[in-house]
Parts: sequence; structure tokens; C-alpha cells
Amino acid sequence: MSVVVIAGAGVTGLITAVRCARAGHRVTVVDRGPIPNPSSSSFDQHRAIRALAPGDAAATRTSAALHRRWLRLQALLGGQFYRRIGVVTGWPADRTDDVVDVARRADITISLLDPNTLPHIVLPAGYVGVRETDAGVLLAERVLHAATAWLRRHPAVTLRPWREVVAVDTDATRLELDDGTSLTGEVMLLATGAWTGQLVDVPTILHRQTTVYLRPPDDLRAWWDRAPSAGNIGADATGWLMPPGAGTLLKLSSTELCRDAATLTEPNEDRTAARQYIDRILTDPHRYTVAAIKQCHYTVDAVTGCGALAQPGPAVWARAATGGDGFRTAPLVADHIVELAAAGLAA
Ligand SMILES: Cc1cc2nc3c(=O)[nH]c(=O)nc-3n(C[C@H](O)[C@H](O)[C@H](O)COP(=O)(O)OP(=O)(O)OC[C@H]3O[C@@H](n4cnc5c(N)ncnc54)[C@H](O)[C@@H]3O)c2cc1C
Repeated sequence: MSVVVIAGAGVTGLITAVRCARAGHRVTVVDRGPIPNPSSSSFDQHRAIRALAPGDAAATRTSAALHRRWLRLQALLGGQFYRRIGVVTGWPADRTDDVVDVARRADITISLLDPNTLPHIVLPAGYVGVRETDAGVLLAERVLHAATAWLRRHPAVTLRPWREVVAVDTDATRLELDDGTSLTGEVMLLATGAWTGQLVDVPTILHRQTTVYLRPPDDLRAWWDRAPSAGNIGADATGWLMPPGAGTLLKLSSTELCRDAATLTEPNEDRTAARQYIDRILTDPHRYTVAAIKQCHYTVDAVTGCGALAQPGPAVWARAATGGDGFRTAPLVADHIVELAAAGLAA
């Protein structure tokens, strides 16, 4: 049995803790707030899970495997958190051969939709919808609660909420906590999201994304209940949305509403641009009620622009760059850490 110490109880920390505990390791998870923590980037109503990466059959195949992982996690953790409602990606009608070819090579099921079947969502002129069947939305808050409940019941797991990590000794694999105590492990994961740069020096770029939460009119609720998640939508193909359902609101945003930020504490900017995107993404936008407009952060690797695991110490790993797909890919981090813990066991 290895001793695994995890800082941060967002999706990365919690799913990794589940994986390590199941593999027989002793695990401690520490967070500066409650577990789960509503101020983590992971704590939101939904996160998309999809596989199709047009032009990249290998990446599509890897992501399709994640769909099956999340179904297994749902069965293990309990609670209905995977809404398998499909994901529609807007795609130029004259280039559908490419996307059909990638889906065939990656062995995923897609279908082409006439835009008229999505009357409440704007697709760019000349686009069709490519519907991916084995995809949809993870109800993110429910995932975090289900994982936390499972971990609380596990005898080899210790959850330590309300403990801030103030320093990391990367050579000694040791966390210093704000109450003057420390935690030492054989393998350590810093899953402290966008705040990881305050603990170790890992070059990342901070992104701030503005999202709009809407209530549909009563007469459209039934339609939205069956609607898929959607990307590459809106007049300029930069929009995406996650439909309401299972107690969540309709959420939309655009790559145009994401910008580089210098710090996590910059004041909120003008929200007019976010409101304007409602008009670009939805038909009849005036019929929806704005419930909230939020700003949320994620980080990408300064070189690759993607999520990546860094290794700031011999047995210390950091998910400083989580990427825009950091939720659905959390099980891949868990795989990596459990392999290291197993290697520690063998040593
Ligand atoms: C608007 C938006 C939309 C997104 N959409 C998607 C999507 O559709 N699909 C997808 O897969 N991904 C999506 N992502 C990305 C995804 O949400 C993140 O990559 C992921 O949630 C990061 O999880 P994490 O556990 O690594 O970090 P976090 O969830 O941020 O968790 C970090 C935890 O560390 C704790 N912490 C920080 N510092 C300390 C400290 N010093 N001591 C103790 N604890 C500390 C925090 O309290 C927090 O609980 C989106 C992100 C945003 C912002």
C-alpha cells in the first residue's frame, strides 16, 4: 500500500482519490474550503462530455473510451450524473465527409441533422448538425457530491476540509498546512486548479470564461428537456450551450467570451458582450430569462495550450494546466497517479 496525498478537492483530486483508494492505497485529500468546494472550477451545473475531434481519429478514440469510464464511475459512485443526451457540433455542410470518416475510423456513432430539427438553436449559414450519440453532459456538482460521499465511506481515505496548503516541499513530498501541521506521502498530486501556480512554479496561461445561465419559457421546457448539448453554434460558429434539465438551467457561452487573465482576482468586466451572445445563439432570445452571468477560470499549458501534468518534484505531480476539457479527462490523471502509486508499492 502506498500513501497518496492529494491537495485540492475538485474533480481531479476527488476522482484520483477514488481510483487510488480502489487500488488499495491510503489516501488523504486536503482542501482549503469545504469538500466539495463550491468555489472550485469543477463546481458548476454541467460539463460537456464528447469524443468527436474532427480531423483526429486517434484523439476521438481516446475520448470515446472516457465516455465508457464515466458510465462505470456513475455505476460505482451512484447518483445519476451522466445525462447521455448527445452532443451536436455545427459543421459546414460541404465538409461532412471528413467528419463521417473520422467517426468511422474511431468507431463512434454519429448522425447528420437538418438544422430544422434544432429550431431553437442558431446554426451558422451553410452548416448542418453532427450528432454524437454516446456523449452529453456530466452534472458536475452531482459528480463531486457523489465522489465525496463514496470517499467518506471508505476506511482508507481521510478528507481534510478547511485546510489550506501554504507551502510544498517537492523534494520531501510534503505539504505544509495553515494550521502548522504537515502531510507527507509517497506520491503527491497537486490538484489545486488555477491556484496551483501559487504553490509551485509551473508555467500556465490563465483563461477567464463568461457564461450565461437562462430560464427557458414554460412552453419550451419539454423541447429543451430532450435537447442535446451543442458546440460550434451561433451565427459565427463560436458558441456552445448545455441544455437545461435535471434541475439545471440552460447555459451558454462562446470562445469569444474567453480571454487571458493576468490574475484570479481581476474585477468582473462588463457583461454586455455576454448578453449579446444570447441573441446570436438562440432563436427568440427575448423569451428567455437571464438567471445569472458568471465568470470562471481554467488554465492551459503555456507551451501546448492544452491540459498537462507537470512533475515539480521526484514524487510530486501537478495538474496546474487543466484545460477546457479538464473535467471529462480527470480519470486520465487518476490513471497516471495510480500507476505511480503502484510503482511505489513495488519499490
Ligand atoms: C466555463 C468553463 C467551462 C468548462 N467546460 C468544460 C467542459 O465542458 N468539459 C470539461 O471536461 N471541462 C470543462 N471545463 C474545464 C474544467 O471545469 C476544469 O478543467 C476542471 O474542473 C478542473 O478541475 P480541478 O479539480 O483540476 O480544479 P478545481 O476544480 O479548480 O479544484 C481545485 C481545488 O483546489 C483547492 N485549492 C486551491 N488552492 C488550494 C490550497 N492552497 N490549499 C488547499 N486547497 C486548495 C480549491 O479550493 C479547489 O477545491 C470548463 C471550465 C470552465 C471555466
